[in-house]
Amino acid sequence: MEQTKQQPQSILGLPLNELIHEFLKAGFSKLDAKRVFPWIHTKLTMSFDEMSDVPKQVRTNLPKFFSLDRPVCKILQESSDGTAKALLEFSDGNCVETVFIPDERRNTICISSQVGCLIGCKFCNTGTQQFRRNLTSSEIMAQIIYWIERQKHLGKSPITNIVFMGMGEPLLNSKNLFATLEILLSKKTYDFSRNKITISTSGIITEAITDLAKFGVKLAISLHAPNDKIRNELMPINKAYNIETLINAIKEYYSKTNRRVTIEYVMLKDVNDSLDDAKKLADLLKGLNVYVNLIPYNETNHIEFKKTDKNKILKFGAYLQEKNITVTIRKEFGSSIDAACGQLRSKEVER
Ligand code: SAH
Ligand code: SF4
Repeated sequence: MEQTKQQPQSILGLPLNELIHEFLKAGFSKLDAKRVFPWIHTKLTMSFDEMSDVPKQVRTNLPKFFSLDRPVCKILQESSDGTAKALLEFSDGNCVETVFIPDERRNTICISSQVGCLIGCKFCNTGTQQFRRNLTSSEIMAQIIYWIERQKHLGKSPITNIVFMGMGEPLLNSKNLFATLEILLSKKTYDFSRNKITISTSGIITEAITDLAKFGVKLAISLHAPNDKIRNELMPINKAYNIETLINAIKEYYSKTNRRVTIEYVMLKDVNDSLDDAKKLADLLKGLNVYVNLIPYNETNHIEFKKTDKNKILKFGAYLQEKNITVTIRKEFGSSIDAACGQLRSKEVER
């Protein structure tokens, strides 16, 4: 068995075929990997030594190569409505945020895919932070495991929904996103339903979106504007993938998955929230199989955008509904805990 001088590699985010590959490389057997895999994900075991069907000698050697370590929770903020937000620190000192949102019968968690974001949307806190790196699949999976373990520890109901709406652009880290999806959807582990997982993208229309369709999970597209003029100003990525490209991608996703795509539309005061904008949006979306999710803007200190008044959001939504477009208005959760994407990490970085 070859000895490693490197840091043990985290295996929280390795799908079974990759785990087998890494085990064989390190001199363990395929059977060892097959035995270890369910311990990681169904029993959430933190120590190899507890894996009683794995031979003792293997259990002793595994920690030299592999790790089941969790990230460190540096800050946990809890809101009176039950929303919680954690700042998790990985072994290299980089941190990401992840949020827990309980709502009637659902427990949704919001997961980050990158440290910072390259896309630089003008209204987004993460977009103002420097991009550091992609998260590994183990670091993505570690956020999910963090909330599953917390619910267990508190004796509360399990996580039901997962949204990739935290920090970063998931489709720019598609390899690691897909490894995570493979684990989450596997019958041998979490057996999550495709209906309960949503990937949100700023509109990166590459092969990654075609590959995502194969997983059949839900897709949300951050549109945020009724035309290219406004979208160019809010989201520089629109210069690479404009609205027409997005609309074609939405149609294609629907044809491949039979899933209605969610259009995310963050309501920004005097920027994209007039009735004329609603009219243009209705024209744009006419005949498409989509839902619109109107998002009340979460204001941040150092970004000048303001939120649209509640009444105006309701009117905007009512107009779309009149035009037979299905609309939901996102509830505002955790307003006391910096619940918008990237806010908590911004504060920690400033400190
Ligand atoms: N990068 C991906 C996913 C992460 S952002 C994307 O952009 O879709 C998830 C959603 O939160 C996006 O729709 C984004 O536009 C929105 N968002 C970002 N900052 C926000 C804020 N301050 N208030 C409300 N929504 C915000
Ligand atoms: Fe990145 Fe999404 Fe924020 Fe835009 S909204 S900067 S894509 S995290």
